[in-house]
Amino acid sequence: MRISTKLLILLIISVGLVMLIAGLLSLKQYEIALEHATRDELHAHAVTLQIALEEDYAAERVSEAQKLIDRLRENTEIYAVLLFDEKENLLNESQPLTEETLRRPPELREVLSQNRQSYTVRVIDGKRFASIVLPMRIDGKTVGAVELVKSLDGIENEILFARLYWVLTLVLLLAVIFAIVYFVLRRNLSVPINSLLKATEAVGKGDFAHQVAAASRRDEIGRLAAQFNQMAENLNEQNRAAREETENRLRLERELRHNEQLVLVGRLAAGVAHELGAPLNVIDARAEQIQNRADITPEKKQRNLEIIRSNVARITHLVRQLLNLARPFNLNIARVNLSASLKIALEQIEENAEASKIEVEFSAADNLHVKADPNYLQQVWLNIFINALQEMPDGGSLLLRAFTDEDFAVVEISDTGKGIPDEHFVYLFDPFFTTKDIGKGTGLGLPIANRIIEEHGGKIKARNHETGGAIFAVYLPLSPN
Ligand code: ADP
Repeated sequence: MRISTKLLILLIISVGLVMLIAGLLSLKQYEIALEHATRDELHAHAVTLQIALEEDYAAERVSEAQKLIDRLRENTEIYAVLLFDEKENLLNESQPLTEETLRRPPELREVLSQNRQSYTVRVIDGKRFASIVLPMRIDGKTVGAVELVKSLDGIENEILFARLYWVLTLVLLLAVIFAIVYFVLRRNLSVPINSLLKATEAVGKGDFAHQVAAASRRDEIGRLAAQFNQMAENLNEQNRAAREETENRLRLERELRHNEQLVLVGRLAAGVAHELGAPLNVIDARAEQIQNRADITPEKKQRNLEIIRSNVARITHLVRQLLNLARPFNLNIARVNLSASLKIALEQIEENAEASKIEVEFSAADNLHVKADPNYLQQVWLNIFINALQEMPDGGSLLLRAFTDEDFAVVEISDTGKGIPDEHFVYLFDPFFTTKDIGKGTGLGLPIANRIIEEHGGKIKARNHETGGAIFAVYLPLSPN
């Protein structure tokens, strides 16, 4: 329910209640006043009649008394006049049609014996009548009584009319109050609150330019609306600044990425040039010997040709590795037993390890299986193993561990070499990043291994052991049973 409706209902109920109570009280007062007026009027008539009758009776002018009664009956709204003697007998009645029940008022005896007047309201056949009985005295002796009866129909009608009038006034007043309060509440509460609500919704949806019209009002709502507009303006400003900042950042990031790409392309080109340059020089020199030296022996010629072929093989190998980095893989995913796959790779480096006095330790559960292409996997193991061996030319130990981590199988390959300098971690997987001498490293082993593992949905993490030596952890998706 709206606040204005609630206020309106509350106001109408409280005003209605107050008016109802006040109205009922004043109606009651009006009723009492009317009854008093009727009683006083009746009493005045009765006393006048009593004096006149007492005089007529004293002068024994009974017929005069009758006339008086008739005139009173004609000229006033008196319903009936009754005359009694001291023995309670009805002597005279103005109205022959007076009902039987009215003819002998129950108070008559008391009036005659105690010589005092009585006033009562009687209900006869559902109608109300006011009755006053007065004693008549001649020379200090009670000789009878006179009763005046007046119908209360008149005042009842008046009371009814007063009630009707009051109900109408109440309804009219409530309607006027309702209309005024409704108009005031609508203008001062509903309309501005609604415009504030609409503005809040608009700002919530991101329309910070929305302004509340109620801000021109000179009340609390006006101040609230002005504050709201100020807030929306601030938000608009902040939003614009944030958008600008984001755009700037994006632009900078784009530029940076572009620069990084340029650096990478430069390094790639330099690497390729360097790696190809050395064997091409050798090939050129040997070919030149064969071509230009007339005295070259067949053995020497044969040897030069062998050197040329081995350098061509080196170039071919390099080109194949480069292609591995660039072209999309066509993986033949199978369920690979991890420990078996690692053992095959270990066999291939066994001799080299022995030659360098490197101890190999292997601990992996037999039932670990991964989803992988077995051939590509061999390439990954070999690249990492060879790096480790190269780091330990004077002996050491190569430790292999395989375990599970959530949905992945992890193979940790750690060595006891020098470890990786902190500043090299960012370049570790970049193509052509190498710290090795010419001919020993191309800087393609780790990027190729990384690319293969990423294609499998896994990752490679490198870190140093606290006691020295590097640890390469290879994550591969597990192949459940
Ligand atoms: P390459 O072996 O031809 O240099 P890689 O991409 O395999 O190329 O390795 C890049 C570089 O990472 C290496 O030159 C070396 O500096 C560092 N690296 C790789 N493996 C290890 C390791 N086990 N210990 C210390 N450094 C390593």
